[in-house]
Amino acid sequence: MSSIRVAAMQELFTRRPIVVNPPSEKVSDYFGTDTFGLETMKRYLPSGAFENVKKAIDTWGHIDRKDADAVASAMKAWAMERGATHYTHWFHPLNGSTAEKHDAFFEPTKDGKVFEHFSGKELIQQEPDASSLPSGGIRNTFEARGYTAWDPSSTAFIVDRTLCIPTVFVSYTGDALDYKAPLLKSLFALDQAAVEVCHYFNRNVNKVISTLGWEQEYFLVDEALYYARPDLVLTDRTLMGHASAKDQQLADHYFGSIPERVSAFMKDLEYDCYRLGIPIRTRHNEVAPNQYECAPVFEEANQAVDHNQLLMDVMKRVARKHHFRALLHEKPYKGINGSGKHNNWSMLTNTGTNLLAPGTTPKTNLQFLTFLINTIKAVHDHADLLRASVISAGNEYRLGGNEAPPAIISVFVGKHLTKVLHDLERKIPTKRMTPNEKTELKLDIGKIPEILMDNTDRNRTSPFAFTGNRFEFRAVGSSMNCAAPMTVLNVAVANQLAEFKTDVDALIENGMRKDEAIFRTLRDYIIHSKKILFEGNGYSEEWKQEASRRGLTNISEATEALKAYLTPSSVDLLTKYHILSEKELHARYEIRLENYTKKIQIEARVLGDLAVNHIIPTVIKYQNCLIDNVKGLREVLPTSEFGDAAGYQLNSIKKISKHKSLILEMVDEMINARKVANKIEDIRKRAEYYSQNVKPFLDEIRRHIDKLELIVDDELWPLPKYRELIFTR
Ligand code: ADP
Ligand code: MG
Repeated sequence: MSSIRVAAMQELFTRRPIVVNPPSEKVSDYFGTDTFGLETMKRYLPSGAFENVKKAIDTWGHIDRKDADAVASAMKAWAMERGATHYTHWFHPLNGSTAEKHDAFFEPTKDGKVFEHFSGKELIQQEPDASSLPSGGIRNTFEARGYTAWDPSSTAFIVDRTLCIPTVFVSYTGDALDYKAPLLKSLFALDQAAVEVCHYFNRNVNKVISTLGWEQEYFLVDEALYYARPDLVLTDRTLMGHASAKDQQLADHYFGSIPERVSAFMKDLEYDCYRLGIPIRTRHNEVAPNQYECAPVFEEANQAVDHNQLLMDVMKRVARKHHFRALLHEKPYKGINGSGKHNNWSMLTNTGTNLLAPGTTPKTNLQFLTFLINTIKAVHDHADLLRASVISAGNEYRLGGNEAPPAIISVFVGKHLTKVLHDLERKIPTKRMTPNEKTELKLDIGKIPEILMDNTDRNRTSPFAFTGNRFEFRAVGSSMNCAAPMTVLNVAVANQLAEFKTDVDALIENGMRKDEAIFRTLRDYIIHSKKILFEGNGYSEEWKQEASRRGLTNISEATEALKAYLTPSSVDLLTKYHILSEKELHARYEIRLENYTKKIQIEARVLGDLAVNHIIPTVIKYQNCLIDNVKGLREVLPTSEFGDAAGYQLNSIKKISKHKSLILEMVDEMINARKVANKIEDIRKRAEYYSQNVKPFLDEIRRHIDKLELIVDDELWPLPKYRELIFTR
């Protein structure tokens, strides 16, 4: 083993689990202690102010300055009691991570002293500038100001003695520069549209929220090994490495017992999460070695998105404390499973009904079918946009890789619901339904709950699957902000529900009874969206062919998939509900393309460096050993007598030469391709050039390096190998 690898392994042997014991056995004793949730707000606020704030949150209303001042001073008192010295507006810029800029609570006084101060003005709005964050050209330097504005619907929290206030981030001209602003608008749109539709079934509904439960997958790697891999440090994934002889073939990691050091890390992570009010409930080993998952109890979607962003942050921090690095990349290792973030999504009414849970009576079941079928149609109509919302340089390696859903968007509903939909499609007569027919239909539908109880067939290969009382969108990448896909889903469903209301009302106006109008409309929708329904194996070759016959798109290449942002149907949908203006949409499209380009650019640079400065010198060293050896052999064992004595070495010398020159040639070509690409002005064309002409080199060069890994003396190989990265913990 090379000295770098030996040093890393030696460090590894000194590791012990770092056990952190929470102050109490009971989570309820410390859950949410670092958050300024509604409960806390109620305790700290005068009751009038609390009622006003609560009402504003529930009704998407405005919080006036007096109440904001009250909240600010309550927050300050609460935070300072907990030792906070600073506050920050915490937001989700379009670089995918979270941003913060801390300010101390104190203000100077005239006599040179300071006093602690935090007003409603500072709570509501800040101007962090932050002009280097991506804006897609929205912020010209002369009007570069960016503003953050308080989002009262998500809880403030304390991290590292800093009060963090969730905010949206907008430009001087009011354009959204973050993920949260469009998400909030989509939640509003969904609320409005869903309430209207609920009124067909229940007049008491006055609010519908979208619920999200994410499942976060990640890898852990020891920090000593991590630092010995410049590719992991700089790109979050390995750009080379031959497959380990054994990796996940035996499925012996999945759901296995959690290694001690990892378990200590998870408990510590959970402790931090609980104090921050993130309700992590599930933890387990995932399929690939050193891959894990955690999942919370679902929450209101905006809160859940914030909690996921916070979790990713906390996870990285806690991992460091345990001498691990958490890899959130969608595909850190070639040849073994990558990481996703399933988004479990549903809608919940203020009356406590999960709109995607089959009911117990024919009436509630009709409501269930209404929301189910409208969601299916929304996905059918906006499948390309949904895909665009989750495509990225990292996710490109995962989607369609026979480990994650394919790049074909389809919907799985299970055997029983398939039958229900089929029956519904066939049964509704075009004329007026007889009471008998109606009862029969309702009774049939009334059977759903019992059947679903034991509906355990969960097609893991489907990108969008109904799992009993929610849909699970599985194409989301592990490193992503869930807000982007959730925004698209919410607004697509909102739009669909509004269309449904229009269609049903039109039939009612023409004299049709309500139930019948609903049935009729749903039936039309089933027929319209049928092609998106697929129950079979999504990984199979046949599905690709079948999907293409059905006219479903299969786009796994990012620059192509991203085009869906700008199609007339996407622009219509997103502008109609003011989710994004055309300007904002174009900006986002460009940011995504730029991000894609930069990721490949960085990877190409790192790979070039590793190849030329790490791998090639190593293989030359080894080749020289072999050459010396051959020469020596020839001296002591004259060729005439032992013709084959150096045969193996000679063969290796030749192979090394071949791979070496191919690698060097391709590194040069790759650099030239980058030079050409970087001169292209048009952002889309540049990204396409990177995708088509730079990215392929990453795989090609790697292939030869991985071959060399098998030839070169293990003692010389400079980078930790896959077996070391994925099996040591
Ligand atoms: P699995 O891996 O079997 O899909 P998990 O328990 O890991 O299941 O995760 C399921 C996630 O779905 C959890 O976060 C859970 O809270 C969430 N979930 C359950 N019901 C709903 C719902 N109505 N809306 C949104 N998410 C939900
Ligand atoms: Mg799941």
